[in-house]
Amino acid sequence: MTPGSFAAIGAPVAPVPRLVHESFPPGSFIWFRQKVLPMARRRQIYEGKAKILYEGPEPGTLIQYFKDDATAFNAQKRGTINGKGVLNNRISEHVFTLLGNIGVPTHFIRRLNMREQLIRQVEIVPIEVIVRNVAAGTLSKRLGIEEGTQLPRTLIEYCYKDDALGDPLVAEEHIACFNWCSQDELHDIQDMAIRINDFMSGMFAAVGIRLVDFKLEFGRLYEGDFSRIILADEISPDGCRLWDMTTNEKLDKDRFRRDLGGEVEAYQEVARRLGLMPEGGENAVLDLESHRKKKGS
Ligand code: 5GP
Repeated sequence: MTPGSFAAIGAPVAPVPRLVHESFPPGSFIWFRQKVLPMARRRQIYEGKAKILYEGPEPGTLIQYFKDDATAFNAQKRGTINGKGVLNNRISEHVFTLLGNIGVPTHFIRRLNMREQLIRQVEIVPIEVIVRNVAAGTLSKRLGIEEGTQLPRTLIEYCYKDDALGDPLVAEEHIACFNWCSQDELHDIQDMAIRINDFMSGMFAAVGIRLVDFKLEFGRLYEGDFSRIILADEISPDGCRLWDMTTNEKLDKDRFRRDLGGEVEAYQEVARRLGLMPEGGENAVLDLESHRKKKGS
């Protein structure tokens, strides 16, 4: 059984009887065919900033395609990072598989090719869950805490997923008030976020990377009239802050956000340390230091 698949996480493999959506508005209808269609004939369900969702080969599945497009600051900054999609697909597959192995239910079924993975279709909870171990980014800006300050305890923040509003920070009270998810669902989300943070902090520390903070998204997987919360979206350097433990070098999307350059090399370095890059192959990782020297910066 595929690690990380629905069956491998201890639940029965059952067709999802309801049409549900992933990252697109409620009420959208999706129709499925029974076999995988060639790319050109595949029905696109949704296009986001970094990914495209296509209909999957069977009901209850989608194909998640990873693009090279990069955006920051609520899409005010746009660019392309060549090869990012391939790296994020591979890194996210790795992390979701390991999380599945420790019992975190995820939407990941299997990677299909360089840029695509087969996933379970879920109804996305409209909340971005931000987990922080070290002060950085908007937390530092908002509260005037110096970047790099170790937080006394893990901090979980929530942002309401709405591009037009710039994904505003919200409190648990807002989530309850507007019923974006139930209290039980929020407890499941919090439990999973903490488990994921514990696991990922260890995984990255083992390869000399500090997990500063990251963003998670969750979805409802319907089973008959019932639903349960599972981890969705992706986990990659696009949505994590990853710092080299000795040099504090940024190995994540902040290289793009802050015009530091060397984005692909940083993502490759993360993949290499996780053992996901062919040693000495064509895609051999460029050393960030020599990359900078080459660029004369
Ligand atoms: P901050 O709130 O400091 O900008 O981000 C906190 C963490 O969440 C960072 O690791 C950042 O990459 C991630 N994050 C927050 N919002 C988004 C988002 O809309 N997209 C992605 N990919 N990551 C996000």
